[in-house]
Amino acid sequence: MKSLLRLLPSLYRRRWVSLAGSLLLALLTIAAGVGLLGVSGWFLSAAALAGAGAFFNLFAPSALVRMLSFVRIASRYAERLVGHAATLRLLTDLRSRVFTALVALTPRQLGRYRDGDLVARLTGDVDALDTVFLHVLTPMLTSGIAAVVLAVVLGVWVPAAGWVLAGAMGVACLVIPVWQARAARVPGVELQENLAALRATTLEVVESHADLMALSAVDQVRSGFAVDCRRAARAHETQMHVAANGVWLLQVLAGVCVLGVLWFGLEGLRQGRLSGPLLAGLLLAVIGIFEVTGPLMRGAARLGGAVAAAQRIRALVEQIPDQRDPAHPRSLPAQGAIEFDDVSFAYPSAEEALTAPVLKSINLRIEPGEHVAITGPSGAGKSTLLQLLVRLEDPQSGCVRFGGVDLRQASLAELHSKVAWLAQDAPAFLGTLRTNLLIGDAQADEASLWAALDGARLGDFARSLPDGLDTWVGETGASLSMGQARRLCLARALLTPCPVLALDEPTAGLAEDAQEAFFTDLARAAAGRTVVLVTHARLPPGAVDRTLRLRGGCLEVSVLA
Ligand code: ADP
Ligand code: MG
Repeated sequence: MKSLLRLLPSLYRRRWVSLAGSLLLALLTIAAGVGLLGVSGWFLSAAALAGAGAFFNLFAPSALVRMLSFVRIASRYAERLVGHAATLRLLTDLRSRVFTALVALTPRQLGRYRDGDLVARLTGDVDALDTVFLHVLTPMLTSGIAAVVLAVVLGVWVPAAGWVLAGAMGVACLVIPVWQARAARVPGVELQENLAALRATTLEVVESHADLMALSAVDQVRSGFAVDCRRAARAHETQMHVAANGVWLLQVLAGVCVLGVLWFGLEGLRQGRLSGPLLAGLLLAVIGIFEVTGPLMRGAARLGGAVAAAQRIRALVEQIPDQRDPAHPRSLPAQGAIEFDDVSFAYPSAEEALTAPVLKSINLRIEPGEHVAITGPSGAGKSTLLQLLVRLEDPQSGCVRFGGVDLRQASLAELHSKVAWLAQDAPAFLGTLRTNLLIGDAQADEASLWAALDGARLGDFARSLPDGLDTWVGETGASLSMGQARRLCLARALLTPCPVLALDEPTAGLAEDAQEAFFTDLARAAAGRTVVLVTHARLPPGAVDRTLRLRGGCLEVSVLA
């Protein structure tokens, strides 16, 4: 519950006008509905008691009945419209807040979640929160207020009946929903978690479908999926039982309350404190007010799921990004030397304890415009070194500088406008060749796009395509070969106007002769820019100015190329 209270008020505050409007309209709907029943009850009984031939003013009550039914229809329509629109806006606000928080985290922070679980937090968990306003707060507040008003009205003639109604509605609006929320808490948590697991499994199966087929592992995945489905169904069923029990209790309560009001009302009637038609009208109004409380029973049963969803969302949005801008960022020079000054680094584990050091006392200075290759066995820390250069991680000791400025003192956006990074597993995004390239530089003209493609040795292939730059490359670049997707990512890095290129295995997936040609081209294409190149490939003579070797976290040998 604390999670809901922490998450929702700030969202509600932003949209308070439309939320208050929706509450007022809901109140008007209740008032019209309860009034309609009350007036009709009074009208019918009074007309019957007056008997045939007696004088009875039909006009005023029948006009009132017609007006109330019209108001009820119109206000219910408006309430649905305003209430749902406000809730959808709330969910949009929350979704964009979750997304903003998500993209501020580093890949290592995001790596703790399954992709599908993150999707579930952005979609299913956010959606689960619509229950709170629409199906809990609105019926609870409006039927509570309406009950107080009706109890006071009833109390004017029959005080004891007013107390009976107040007590019964207290139980209906507070005691039963609280019991329901508690009873459905565990199934609510299970439901949200299982739905998230189902999303995550679906995403993973789609991504690795071919491998699962080839390994004949589909049945294994299918049975795991079926278990999650069954668990979700069971949790849902429990939620439904709690909702049904709430509705049942409400019906019993309504019956008891009507009997109580009738009992004390008849006593009042005998003492002449109120008339028969008035009592009939009040009794129908009491029945009407219990009908309004019905949706609360279904809403409260789903509150456990909403609490679980709020907890899952908070765990994400309240995570502090590992990398943040300093309070007063220093600006970086247009070009400058890269320095690793006695840099040591170890990855923190999930429990924030440090694991074995990956980089040990690295000292390295790369002059502006210099091309440096870093080689070394797998797991030596080469990719980690580049990640420190783009500040995906910070060293535990020592510092990394660009143009003499410690990277931690600069803003991340400015750093990323100086250093373009080609990650080892960079993705080709859903879109065309052009949209993929423009991520590198949104302002790039046609000639620069082709130059970047040629630089990455993808130009001839792109020219051979009927749609050229507008060729659709599909989700995660599915219509490109691995090597082509890699070259597209490389072209994107080349296209950036950054003075430094940090390239992690740029030629992975290329044939050996193409690799050689690429390195020769790179020397030319990146002339004037600083290049830090991590590679396993054999470099042709003159491709770089210096080759360094990283082994066991230490820069071991420095060889002049
Ligand atoms: P290389 O690029 O030289 O193959 P990496 O820099 O990727 O090596 O990895 C160096 C070491 O750091 C490896 O032992 C690897 O297991 C570890 N490592 C890499 N990424 C992470 C991570 N996100 N969390 C924990 N350890 C990691
Ligand atoms: Mg690597």
